[in-house]
Parts: sequence; structure tokens; C-alpha cells
Amino acid sequence: MVRFENVTKSYGALTVLDQLNLDIERNEKVSIIGPSGSGKTTVLRMLMTLERINDGVIWVDGEPLTHMDRNGTMVKASERHLRRVRGKIGMVFQHFNLFPHMTALQNCIEAPVSVLGLSRAEAEARAAELLDMVGLGDKKGHFPIQMSGGQKQRVAIARALAMRPKVMLFDEVTSALDPELVGEVLNVIRQLGAEHDLTMLMVTHQMGFAKEFSDRVCFFYGGKIAEQGPPDKLFNDPDNDRTRQFLSAVL
Ligand code: ATP
Repeated sequence: MVRFENVTKSYGALTVLDQLNLDIERNEKVSIIGPSGSGKTTVLRMLMTLERINDGVIWVDGEPLTHMDRNGTMVKASERHLRRVRGKIGMVFQHFNLFPHMTALQNCIEAPVSVLGLSRAEAEARAAELLDMVGLGDKKGHFPIQMSGGQKQRVAIARALAMRPKVMLFDEVTSALDPELVGEVLNVIRQLGAEHDLTMLMVTHQMGFAKEFSDRVCFFYGGKIAEQGPPDKLFNDPDNDRTRQFLSAVL
């Protein structure tokens, strides 16, 4: 469903992704862990085509996001193509990024109407259903400022789902939350993973959740996957010294 093939991303002299190879199956739940600056968030940003890569190819659902031109220069696909491929991906950010002037319901209606072309009634029915699903049926008319961090993050998840993505990306979605609100957001993600046909890629510092939730955990170091495997193996019996050092520092 998602494939990084020898992907390199640099900022000036700093190589952030170094010939990265990563292959994610349909419906697979993958967590990315690793030290600060190892390139975890960059993986998600490149998938959302927020920036251009320097080399390699990223595939989503069998379609490339980039290609080489005749001179061997990396070019992005056309805006139209990118929009279509990007439409298959939903992303939830650390800082919610809700529209502050819109209610929870309006936040979930806006893009389905303007981008997918759904009728307002159709979008509203779907948004209401999703807000019920994330446990916010009674907060539909609330504005972001009237909600807790955990509630805002659940609206952000509902909003991403309203676009009917095939792939969901989660970027440290609990990092900005008070500890007592982390559980409610993780519960929603857990439920999503169990009940929906979704490929999920998550950058997280929640090692306990990564262990319980993921089919596979990738440990990033220096813009590459230093080690990957089933969570039980990676957390309990890692092969790589760097993984061991990282885990002993964070667990
Ligand atoms: P953290 O756990 O701290 O969020 P991360 O593994 O997600 O770290 P990235 O956000 O992917 O790390 O960043 C990787 C490196 O790229 C960092 O050294 C960062 O400073 C650098 N970087 C990211 N975005 C830019 C940018 N727009 N310009 C220059 N350098 C950048």
C-alpha cells in the first residue's frame, strides 16, 4: 500500500532520510520509533508530499508520487495526480490543526464538501456518525476552544476519516496531551485499527502502545531503519545495539 524505494531527503548538507526502504502492506499497522532527529516525522511529511524528496520513489496504492525526467532529475507528479493520491491518505498531527472558527461538526464537513464534492446533508450525516464513533456525539456544536486536548484530537481523527482514506498517518498524536487524556485518544486509534480496513503508520513515543498495537515496529536511526520486526521481538530481544541503547533510555 505504501512503499519507499531508496528515498533520500536532504536539507542542505543534512541528510534526513538516507536511501530509505520501507514497504507497508494493506491493512498493516506500523509504528516508527527512534531518537529525536532520526527522520521519523519526515517520513510522514514526504508521504503527504508536503515537500519534495531528492532521490528515490514513493508509491501509494501502486501509484508513484514522483518520477525521474529524461535528464534524471526528480520531479513531482502533476498537482492533479498528487491531489488524487493524497486523497487516499489521512493525517493527524501532534497539534490537532483544527479550524478554530468552526465547530467539531463543521471541521469534519468542510473538506468532504469542498474536495470530495459531497452534498452538505451527506457530509453532515457522515460527520455526525464519525463524531459518535470517537465518543463526541454530544460535542458536535462545540468549538475547539471549548474542548480538551483529547477531545480536539478525537475531532481531528474524525475529520481525517471523513475523507475516506485508505492510509492513516499519526504523528506523535498524544505528545501534546496531558497524561490523563492520552488513553482516550489511544482507545480511539485502537478501535479504528480493529474495526476498519485501514493501513496505519504511526510515529510515536508511546512504547507501550506501539508494542500492543503494531504488527511491526521500525526503529529509525540516522534516516534509515536500523531494525524492524514484530513488537515482541523488537522490544524484548532487539538485535541492534542502537535499538537496545534507545530502548533502555526510554523504557
Ligand atoms: P522528533 O522525535 O524530535 O520529532 P524526528 O525523528 O521526527 O524527531 P524529523 O522531524 O524527521 O525528526 O527531523 C529530522 C531532521 O531534519 C532534524 O535534524 C530536523 O532538524 C531536520 N529538519 C526537519 N525539517 C527541516 C527543515 N524544513 N529544514 C531544515 N531541517 C529540517
